[in-house]
Parts: sequence; C-alpha cells; structure tokens
Amino acid sequence: MTKHYSPSSKLDTQQSYINGTYVTNQSGDTFDTIYPGNGEVICDVETAGQTEVDAAVAAAHAAFEPWAALPAVERGNILRKAGQILRERNQELAELETLDTGKPISETTTVDIISGADVLEYYAGVAQTIHGQHVDLPPSAFAMLRREPIGVCAGIGAWNYPIQIAMWKSGPALACGNTMVFKPSEQTPLTTLKLAEIYTEAGLPDGVFNVVQGARDTGSALISHPDVSKVTLTGSVDTGKVVMAHSARDLKKVTLELGGKSPVIVFEDANIDNAVNGILAANFYSSGQVCSNGTRVFVHKDIYEKVLQRLAERTKNIKVGNPFDADTHMGPLVSEQHFEKVKSYMHAAKNSAARHVCGGDTIQLDSGFYVTPAIFADCDDSMSFVKEEVFGPLMSLISFSDEDAVLKQANDSDFGLAGAVFTQNFNRAHRVANKIQAGIVWINEYNITPPEVPFGGYKQSGVGRENGLQSIEYYTQLKTIYANLGDIPHSF
Ligand code: NAD
Repeated sequence: MTKHYSPSSKLDTQQSYINGTYVTNQSGDTFDTIYPGNGEVICDVETAGQTEVDAAVAAAHAAFEPWAALPAVERGNILRKAGQILRERNQELAELETLDTGKPISETTTVDIISGADVLEYYAGVAQTIHGQHVDLPPSAFAMLRREPIGVCAGIGAWNYPIQIAMWKSGPALACGNTMVFKPSEQTPLTTLKLAEIYTEAGLPDGVFNVVQGARDTGSALISHPDVSKVTLTGSVDTGKVVMAHSARDLKKVTLELGGKSPVIVFEDANIDNAVNGILAANFYSSGQVCSNGTRVFVHKDIYEKVLQRLAERTKNIKVGNPFDADTHMGPLVSEQHFEKVKSYMHAAKNSAARHVCGGDTIQLDSGFYVTPAIFADCDDSMSFVKEEVFGPLMSLISFSDEDAVLKQANDSDFGLAGAVFTQNFNRAHRVANKIQAGIVWINEYNITPPEVPFGGYKQSGVGRENGLQSIEYYTQLKTIYANLGDIPHSF
C-alpha cells in the first residue's frame, strides 16, 4: 500500500544505515530535520560520530572485494531493479522529498526520483561495457590497460536534490564495482535512507551502500578516514575547497560539483517564447535553489523591454504556496537560515541602482520560508547579487548590444558551471556556445541534464564530471599491465 506524507507528517527518530540495517548511535546526539513549509520538526535524526563512521567505512571496505568481483551484468541487474522500485514508489518518495525540502510536489513527482532512476538504469547498462584496452608493442610485447574500481567512495550531498544527488553518485560508483558511504545534507536526511532500503530490497549486498547522518563533523570524519579512497561532494564552493584540502592529505581522488552563477545570453533573433520559457525555468525552478541556474540574463537591447515585459507578466502569475498543492509552482526556501540569506540579497537588490520589476517579498504562510520570485533589470556586474550565488529566486537582467562584449561579461566570473545562448542563427549559436566558459552550455534550452551527457564545472564550479561515460573515468583507476613475450637482454 502506498504510504503518504503531508505537511503534518511526523516521523520516528531516524538513524544511519550501515551494513544493510539501521544502527543506533553511541553518543545519543541528535539533530532535527524540519518541514520548510511551516518550520516544524518532522523528526530527530541520530548523529553519526566517529564510531558509526568507522563502522560504515569498515562495512563498505569488507563489501568491496566481493562486490567488485561480481559479473558486471549482476551489478547492473541490481541497479536496474532499484530503478524499477524507485519508479513504483515515486509518489511516496516524492511526498517525502517535498516534506523534507519544501520543493513543490509538481517537481518532485516528475523530476527528483525519476531522474535519479534514469541514472541508475543508464549505469546498469553501462556496467557491462566498462573495459580496458590492448596496446600492441611489437616485436614481442603488449600492454593491457585495465579499468579497476577505486575502493570505498565517500559521497556527500547538498540539500537541493537529496535523493537525486545520492543516485548521481552511487549509480556510477557501484556500476564500476566500488562501494559507498553516503552522507546526505543534515537539512534533508530522509530520502537517502529510503534509497538505501530500496538498494537492499533490490538485492544489493550489505555494506555496498551505507548512509551516515550528520553535518560537517560527520562529513569531515568520513572524508578523513584512511580506508576511503575517493571523495565526491555536491555542495558550495567554500565546502569544496575544504573537502579538497582534507582529501589532499592522503591524495584521495576527488569529484566536486559546486556552485554557479550562470549566464543566459538572448540575441535579438531568438524565438522569444522559447527564450522566456527557458529564462523562467533557469531562475525559478525549485525556488531558484538549483546550482546550474542561469541567473545572469543578458538580453539584446533591441528586444530587452519586450522580453522583460513578458518575463514580468509570467513571473507575477507564478503561484507560491503550499508545496503539497498540485498547482503550486514554487514552495518555500529550504531553511530559516537560507531564507535570511536570500532576503538579504533581495534587500541589497532593492536598495541598489537596479530597476525593481517585481517580487522579492516574503509571504506569511504557516510560518514557512516563502519569498516571491524577483526580477531586477538594468543590473550591472559589480552588484553583489549579480556576482554572487544567491541560490534563491532572484533574476538579474542586463542589456547588451555586442557579441564579444557580452561574452566577456558572461565569462567574468569565478564560477563556470553552466550557460545558455538563445538565437536562431546556427553559426552564432555555436560560436557563442564554444566561447562560454562553462562545463555545460545549452542552445535554445535550459537545465536539461540527461544521464548520457556529462555534467560538471569549469573554474571554481567543480572538479571532474558526473553522468555520461566520462563519469566512469572518475570512479575507476587505470592499471597498465605490460606483458613481455620475448627474452630480456643482458644489460649488465
Ligand atoms: P554546503 O557546502 O553547505 O554543504 C554540502 C554538504 O557538505 C553537506 O552535506 C554538508 O554537511 C557537507 N559539509 C560541509 N562542510 C563539510 C566538511 N568540512 N567536510 C565534509 N563535509 C562537509 O552546500 P549546501 O548548502 O548543502 O548546498 C548548496 C550548494 O550546493 C550551492 O552552492 C549549490 O550551487 C551547490 N550545488 C551544486 C550542484 C552541482 O551539481 N554542481 C548541485 C546541487 C547543489
């Protein structure tokens, strides 16, 4: 029977999931997770200390050799089965994700769980295709290049796509024969536990995927553990720098998916309907809490006022409210702390020389963290809310007239996660896409991330790639085996 969650749902104390089962922590320490729609506690969660982190890494370490030795088809079958269970339980999992994140049910039922299942199924197929190379070395030798798993991987997640991030990391890691200890964000700890249960139900051996609960200290203990060989984080740039520095002590391999402040460039020949749809999705999806959002919107001066007017009309119709209502477009921000941060950026924008077009106001609803989507026009690059990652529904519009100049502006950022160009001119589309300094650039589209294509950042937006066949390179290590078929000459 399908389980349902609602704004008034209360859960029992949650724990870490280690070696195929829930584990009581030794310290007795707990933290709360709240429903952002009313600020009330959903449940408390036991914090994993050093004891639990050690137990989780030991379980993953013990599970590694037998898991890596399984035929790839069997690893793939388990991932595929997990994908199927996730799809069957989509409604229940989406409701739980909405409860923990405040994201609207219209998004979580159509994106969060399903796009994660897509990734598991993709890597289920890829598992059997992972192979090395043969290098002929005449006259009497050859080399084999083997792709081998790395070992125990530590996965650390952000709060904006909790279960999806856990799948983007565990899917390729497990397909390659690694095991994982995953720490979800302390703000959204619930759905990753369901993923762990589903993996077990799908036949994943105990210890291959473990979840430890907690905040920075738990994450720090996990990435510092000597038996962890690889660290993969999704989070902010600041955390990325700390995690990379920690990992450098033992030269652990790292993948970092970090923040962004991505540009959208709209030329005068763009299809305006598509551009407006793209810009809105690029700014207000998940209440603006998306790493790859295109929040610096450069619009050609000839269509600037027209695009602005359309954006304003559409933005005023965005329904902000109870995320469990099917027709809600935008729910609350994830936490009070984040709400305060976004409000301070809205305040700075309203007090700047930029033109305030609409939004940026708080809504009093059930003590939740609601803010209306905001547009500021005539912005300039020096404004803090234009340069820094707000991670909220704040769109900045800037007018331009020259292609080279707008590219220079678009690239004048420490971030380089994503970008987009809207134009019907084929040559210009590709010329501009090639010049945007970002890990992914969309032409006449925004924020589409199919599992087949790699995703990751240039500059301070990250290290490495997730998704696509490229992710295999980040979850395997290459061994060269040189085979001599002849005699070794006398050298001494
Ligand atoms: P955050 O950096 O505050 O936290 C991310 C995770 O790191 C959390 O689980 C946290 O507990 C953990 N952590 C913090 N300090 C740590 C430490 N010293 N050692 C180990 N772990 C530590 O980020 P957030 O606020 O949860 O998420 C928002 C950020 O994530 C934004 O900057 C956003 O752009 C980014 N993000 C990036 C992507 C991407 O794919 N590039 C996707 C989603 C979110």
